[in-house]
Amino acid sequence: MTQEELFKKLISHCKEYGFIFPSSEIYDGLSAVYDYGQYGSELKNNIKKYWWDSMVLLNDNIVGIDAAIFMHPRTWEASGHVGAFNDPLIDNKDSKKRYRADVLIEEHIAKLEGKIDKEVEKAAKKFGEAFDKNQFITTNGRVLEIQKEIDTVRARFVAALEKPDLDAMRQIIVDCEIVCPISGTKNWTDVRQFNLMFDTKIGSVSDEANVIYLRPETAQGIFVNFLNVQKSGRMKVPFGIAQIGKAFRNEIVARQFIFRMREFEQMEMQFFVRPGSELDWFDKWKEKRLRWHLAMGINPEKYRFHKHDKLAHYANAAYDIEFQFPFGFKEVEGIHSRTDYDLGRHAQFSGKKITYFDPELNQSYVPYVIETSIGVDRMVLLALANGYAEEKVVKEDGTTDERVVLRIPPALAPVKLAVLPLVKKDGLDEKAQQIVKALRFEFNCQYDEKDSIGRRYRRQDAIGTPYCITVDHQTMQDDTVTIRNRDTMQQERIPIAGLQKYMGDKVSIRSMLEKI
Ligand code: ATP
Repeated sequence: MTQEELFKKLISHCKEYGFIFPSSEIYDGLSAVYDYGQYGSELKNNIKKYWWDSMVLLNDNIVGIDAAIFMHPRTWEASGHVGAFNDPLIDNKDSKKRYRADVLIEEHIAKLEGKIDKEVEKAAKKFGEAFDKNQFITTNGRVLEIQKEIDTVRARFVAALEKPDLDAMRQIIVDCEIVCPISGTKNWTDVRQFNLMFDTKIGSVSDEANVIYLRPETAQGIFVNFLNVQKSGRMKVPFGIAQIGKAFRNEIVARQFIFRMREFEQMEMQFFVRPGSELDWFDKWKEKRLRWHLAMGINPEKYRFHKHDKLAHYANAAYDIEFQFPFGFKEVEGIHSRTDYDLGRHAQFSGKKITYFDPELNQSYVPYVIETSIGVDRMVLLALANGYAEEKVVKEDGTTDERVVLRIPPALAPVKLAVLPLVKKDGLDEKAQQIVKALRFEFNCQYDEKDSIGRRYRRQDAIGTPYCITVDHQTMQDDTVTIRNRDTMQQERIPIAGLQKYMGDKVSIRSMLEKI
């Protein structure tokens, strides 16, 4: 199965099993807007809790807030979003499809990098044990040629972004002979700038002064509350403010399911530090955030850091954490050193003094900021894409069966355990219900008595339930149950009295938090 087929299957699986639906589907949906169903919202809530606890519970010097989506319009002038929150867009005249010019170029570079990987793979096979990758990529003629092409395109791209020079960007697309994936032609329009903010009106008087924006990032709600939080919480630099909330962007390219949505959710933390210490803190947060990802137990090879080619005007360091989605390595989180730009600009635009008096240095300054910013929806997609598998299973009678399993990290799974009476008689069903009643205070439990036990296991595998408990006739005699592991499909027999501890050890968010 190709990655593209796998991705399509995942999308229909998400709909069929109540994870994610197209928004207002009965009206044919709304482009790049999605609703979370009964299991999707549980998964999302668990991800948010994992993030929130890792920030606010585990750090004495990080507090959480919940700022409004609507903000004073001056906020977005100060932040630079009114003037510069633009994406360069380009249309293909034949397919009439719209693309982000920068994304087309980045994808072209990724393709070239893929060619190098293939050369390396071929050579590794040919030379076997004796293969020295480093030597190969620094000496092989073909690899050096591709690398030179990458470097040239990238240098032109960074220069075009920096100005920004839209004609130069178009010229790169023309020179690289980039074609539209739909029409296959090179018939491109000019590149234009497009502001990503949604606007709306506040109040009943409809004049210009009442235009406000739906926030395109949650960070500004933190910056404008810097003094409120610092003073009311008597916070001492270094300290952080965390927030989870909705953000809105009128994205041009909206073809990757919940990877790029027009309404999405962010988990952002702004960490305020002494000027001059920001790059040390940047390194610390960069490593710490990767540890948060890896503590979920996901294969580290699916992650990589990506250094920004071009820094935003306010940043002095920026890295993305990228994950290998079915459509390639893509950003899931950004870590940015934002200097004193945001607080400085808000001071300038509001006319208010926004500084911090550092008692240890006996001096006032505008703190510098390290930001960690991650999309909740991209994390949901990451957990689903990483976990989705189709497998052949050998049944007890020797015949084979197929199963679709979602190997979501157990602590994030929507349902933690299913309790299944082997048959619906002899008191087995009541016993099973008693177990659910006792455990549901701590774990999201399901009771299921319909169909054969095998089919019930399949249903739970498909929604990623890590444990299934079966109540059988032996249970009625000795108060033990079998517990089946989703991933290994192995079963063990344990006493009902030990279930709570067993489950607690296996599915608690704490077990991941301890690894960070
Ligand atoms: P991209 O380059 O993919 O457009 P970005 O660099 O604009 O992303 P940031 O502004 O750094 O993204 O936003 C921080 C995080 O918010 C991203 O890492 C991503 O997880 C999430 N995010 C941004 N835009 C979207 C979107 N349209 N849909 C879902 N998540 C998003």
